[in-house]
Amino acid sequence: MEKEYFDLEYLKETLNICVFPDNLFPDMFLLDYEKNQVYLSKGTAGVLEEEDNCVQGRMSVEELESYFSTASRCVFQQDVMRIREGKTKRTDSHLNLVKKGHNTNLLLVMTALEKPGYILGVIHINIDLTHEYSRQLEDTIRQLKQAENINNLILEGSTDYIYHLDVVNNICTFSPKAMEVLPLENNTFSNAMDRLLSFIVPEDRGIFLESFAPFLTGKSRYHKAEYRVMTKQGNIMWIKCQGKGLHDENGNPLMIAGSLIDITAQKETDKKISDMLWYDMMTGLKNRYCFEQEMKEYLKDPDARGSVLCIDIHNFKVFNEIFGHSFANKILVEFSKIINLYISNNLGIYRLEGDEFLVHLKESTQEEILEKLAPFQMYLSKERVLDGHVLFIRANIGVAIYPDNGRTAEDLMKNANTALLMRPKSERHQTVFFRSESLDRLNKKYYLDSVLRQDMADNMKNFRLVYQPIIEKKGDKFVWHGAEALLRYNNPKFSDFNQSELIEALEYSDMIITVGRWVIKQAVKECAYWHKMGCPICVNVNISAQQVSDKGVVAFIQNCCQEAGLDPKWLVCELTETSLINNFEIAGQFCRELMSIGTGVALDDFGTGYSSLNYLKSLPITHLKVDRAYVQNLIREPYNQIILKCLYDLSKTLGLQICVEGIDTEETLNKVLEMEEPLMQGFYFDKPLEAETFRKDIINHCASAK
Ligand code: C2E
Ligand code: MG
Ligand code: MG
Repeated sequence: MEKEYFDLEYLKETLNICVFPDNLFPDMFLLDYEKNQVYLSKGTAGVLEEEDNCVQGRMSVEELESYFSTASRCVFQQDVMRIREGKTKRTDSHLNLVKKGHNTNLLLVMTALEKPGYILGVIHINIDLTHEYSRQLEDTIRQLKQAENINNLILEGSTDYIYHLDVVNNICTFSPKAMEVLPLENNTFSNAMDRLLSFIVPEDRGIFLESFAPFLTGKSRYHKAEYRVMTKQGNIMWIKCQGKGLHDENGNPLMIAGSLIDITAQKETDKKISDMLWYDMMTGLKNRYCFEQEMKEYLKDPDARGSVLCIDIHNFKVFNEIFGHSFANKILVEFSKIINLYISNNLGIYRLEGDEFLVHLKESTQEEILEKLAPFQMYLSKERVLDGHVLFIRANIGVAIYPDNGRTAEDLMKNANTALLMRPKSERHQTVFFRSESLDRLNKKYYLDSVLRQDMADNMKNFRLVYQPIIEKKGDKFVWHGAEALLRYNNPKFSDFNQSELIEALEYSDMIITVGRWVIKQAVKECAYWHKMGCPICVNVNISAQQVSDKGVVAFIQNCCQEAGLDPKWLVCELTETSLINNFEIAGQFCRELMSIGTGVALDDFGTGYSSLNYLKSLPITHLKVDRAYVQNLIREPYNQIILKCLYDLSKTLGLQICVEGIDTEETLNKVLEMEEPLMQGFYFDKPLEAETFRKDIINHCASAK
């Protein structure tokens, strides 16, 4: 042997053996029983040595045995034999060392080395030290036991599922808790990767594999991913998976361990929060924020072409007032479904607030857009029944086309809305395209609104009523049967707005309710005055849709009549076809109440709305006013003549009095007079007259009637 004594370095370097921590047991020997050689460490040599006898680093087995007492030699030989025969890997024996006739007790621990043919012997002379060693060992064992207990507690108490994946052997072990939810028969299973993938939902397998790749390829020691798994109970569970792994020196993965956390509840909350950010909770449609974000993306393309529609429900306010909010909400949901179904292939439907919806279309010309909307409009033209209520839900639509009418989400939304607000009365329930003039009109509209309010508060300043005579032919004479009270507003700040704009502005806000009552009161007073003058004729007042839901308005009418001393039978309330049909039930009730106090009810502008003749027979009305659109083309349009004749016959059958509006020429009058006893109204007879003028003229007309 090159070295006289061996040490641990020697074991490591020469024999490639590493058994004990360095320097813990310096007194040891290595027994090579094939060669019958014992190699001593310096410490061991020191143990055997006597002052006059220096022990060499290498000796035969017999030579070593000679240092032991006879009994100890036997024990030693037996220990070596048991190790050689593979009966044990380790022996611990108390032996006697005989040195200069003195016995020294020692503990000899011998261990079979992995390398065949070698036994390592460690000599403990100081038994106290050995006690210390075993105490330390016990301590370590106790700590290990405690660690194991803690480990078990963590595994059992944790809501997480702990895993360990032996990548080399493709074996996976889960903590027992995981068995409750994951579809596993055993918590340890082979063919691990395939089994793991099998319970990840198919759409998320890619997420798992992609996130696992950096660990498998040695690029990362960590793995982190969120994916869904199918549970034992057949539910979908969101999992947050994180772990840390080990690789060999070549970067090949060996094992990874970590935890799976059930984050289903958190995901649901996240989804709710993101839904709140992106979706309208009531209809499930996307919201304004979503519109802005999605449009931003679309408009990034400078060649993008398309349009934005702003849609609202006609007279939604009335639905709200009549039926209450929860039913009105149902109407909104129903309406959103209709948009979804009948404006097909759209790029997005969004709900703003209230009854305002946006639709994004790829169509960018008026013709294309109108064609696209035809099925929707067609569908809405029919009545529907919701919770037993018969409803007419109509849509008003404003359109902004991009890039011409705007290049940002905000501009398009604003301009589509402007088009919607600015739709002329004649274009109700129609599609209105944005024009730049609309903006000026909108500003004017807001200004008008505020000025109207001020004047209204100032004792109805600048408001007045004019009266247009309603004529009846008695023999050869045309006599005044009554008069229609028509509202006028005259403010020097507004010289150029027309009557329909005034009514629209009042209807748009709720001012019509207050103004409407004022109109009734004025008209009743005026009519009472005519009566006092000895001219008992009727007065007609126009009633807007909103007024139908003005609770107590019938009692108000009764009061006005009482105060003025006029029998309510001299009053006729004119309701437009659309306001009646839109709220069929409520309006029907309203008409019945009016009739119960003796007041007449006229269906105004008949023929301009959507109603079918069928409704006429079930509506509680007394008069039918045929819109001037049918009358004015009477000469040129034979079709109109037929309609007029039909309406006349129908009203006769139903016992209604017919009134023909808009007679402005003699020719028209002659055609109308082919019917028997119609009431007539039109510029041919009189334009609407100031109250004063009317009072003056009435005397003549009454006189001639008598
Ligand atoms: P309407 O109830 O159909 O009233 C008849 C309208 O036709 C009046 O217009 C009248 O001036 C006009 N007219 C009558 N004869 C002729 C004719 O021969 N030729 C032409 N071109 N027009 C004729 P006006 O006063 O501009 O009223 C328009 C609409 O405004 C009314 O239509 C009515 O719906 C509404 N309105 C007027 N006053 C009130 C009111 O006090 N309350 C409510 N809610 N609406 C009102
Ligand atoms: Mg009228
Ligand atoms: Mg009319």
